[in-house]
Amino acid sequence: MTNANLTIDEMATFCKRKGFITKTGEIYGGFAGFWDYLFLGSELKNNLKKSWWDFHVRHRADVEGIDGAIITHPEVWKASGHVDNFSDVFVTCKKCKKPGKVDKNELGKVNCDCGGEYDVQTAKDFELMFKTNIGEDGFGYLRPETAQMIFTNFKAVFEGARMKLPCGIAQIGKSFRNEIAPRNFLFRCREFEQMEMEYFIKPGQKCPHEIPDIEVLVYSEKDQKTNEGPKKMSLKEAHKNKIIKKDWHAYWLGQGLLWFQSLGAKLDNFRIRQHYKEELAHYSTDTWDIEYNFPFGWKELQGIADREDYDLKQHEKFSKENLKVFDEETKEKFLPHVVCEPSFGVERALLVFLYEAYSVGEKGKIILKLNPKLAPIKAAIFPIVKKPEFENIAEEIFKKLKKKFNVIYDKSGSVGRRYARNDEIGTPFCITIDDETLNNKTVTIRDRNTTEQKRVKIEALRYILDDLIDGEIKFEDL
Ligand code: ATP
Repeated sequence: MTNANLTIDEMATFCKRKGFITKTGEIYGGFAGFWDYLFLGSELKNNLKKSWWDFHVRHRADVEGIDGAIITHPEVWKASGHVDNFSDVFVTCKKCKKPGKVDKNELGKVNCDCGGEYDVQTAKDFELMFKTNIGEDGFGYLRPETAQMIFTNFKAVFEGARMKLPCGIAQIGKSFRNEIAPRNFLFRCREFEQMEMEYFIKPGQKCPHEIPDIEVLVYSEKDQKTNEGPKKMSLKEAHKNKIIKKDWHAYWLGQGLLWFQSLGAKLDNFRIRQHYKEELAHYSTDTWDIEYNFPFGWKELQGIADREDYDLKQHEKFSKENLKVFDEETKEKFLPHVVCEPSFGVERALLVFLYEAYSVGEKGKIILKLNPKLAPIKAAIFPIVKKPEFENIAEEIFKKLKKKFNVIYDKSGSVGRRYARNDEIGTPFCITIDDETLNNKTVTIRDRNTTEQKRVKIEALRYILDDLIDGEIKFEDL
């Protein structure tokens, strides 16, 4: 659990109070399942998405990215199986009377969050896709996942970017689901964003990448069925012992966990869980989820499904287009298999980083220990007192740094108060213009996590800040 034991409602209140996130249409009482990101939340979310994109797309030679339409061709969803299969079971709770959703295989097996039983008599199928009018008499769907745009554009990207198998195509963007019971703040929304990748291989192709050597709780189908509980082991060990059968699965689960770790998350709060047979989605032959220990229980952050050639085959059938690729070596034409589909919810990842960062220091002061890459504001610049000789230099530094970083200039209240205000919103560095600045053109830079201060030259500030944010240098080495 997190060090602050904050409930999800308390986290929502904190996010609203500090200017991160609020209900959409708050002044009209809100709109269930829809959220607005404010001046800090929008920066945080953009930083998170950029970091995922850098890690999974930009820094790799085998992955390209796309940005598909949100309102999408109805045939896409017929081919994908969503029109026929993408529904939950609507039920009401016998105790609290609130509506709830269960997956088809869970009917009669799971209870409401309040502990009450669901009334099986009220069960009905509930379609999750939003349909919208187009023009005078047409219609389309708001996409319920970003994955299908990757499949429909597969051939154009594969050939256009001259890709070679194995390779991936990724996308970040909005998805929409008419969730029966949006709840737990950002965890279950009706409008959310996904960061998804389809990783294509030649059928049977082995993973050429090394499985990351990291330890995590592994919860196999067998351990769930025998109530044995998850076991801590390395991903390499889990693969060697055939718990994670495919090398690709172990590799991509590792990449997902490494990304969280690279942004400061502690893997103690994560586990990987295998779907049991009855739980598998209609297209999937094996799926592992990355889960996080939220205050409301272990919940899915990311599903990694093995979809084989299900989607490309379906789109070939429905569009009558040839989506096969040509293998130079064997001179064969074939449909690549999707061996892994890492699919993350941006909102769920954002909640994880908020929980990992939220901590309470001396005298109950909140410190949001966000990784500098994620922090919405990178540095706050203060003149030590409100006097023109200090203010002029502070304003000049602010203007220079602002061109490259999201920094703020703050001169109101005591310096202590200004530090506290910035600690609470996760600003990693505070720069103070003081008496010495006037003599030797240096400023102090304070580290949020340790409150330690160092003195640096004004002319070097831009480069130092850049390296501190990127993690190229450590504060203690300044
Ligand atoms: P759940 O079982 O929680 O409804 P799912 O298995 O239907 O999720 P997927 O279809 O696998 O979810 O979607 C991939 C990812 O997208 C999820 O792991 C999650 O991070 C995110 N996601 C899905 N639905 C929502 C939602 N309603 N709100 C926020 N994020 C979501």
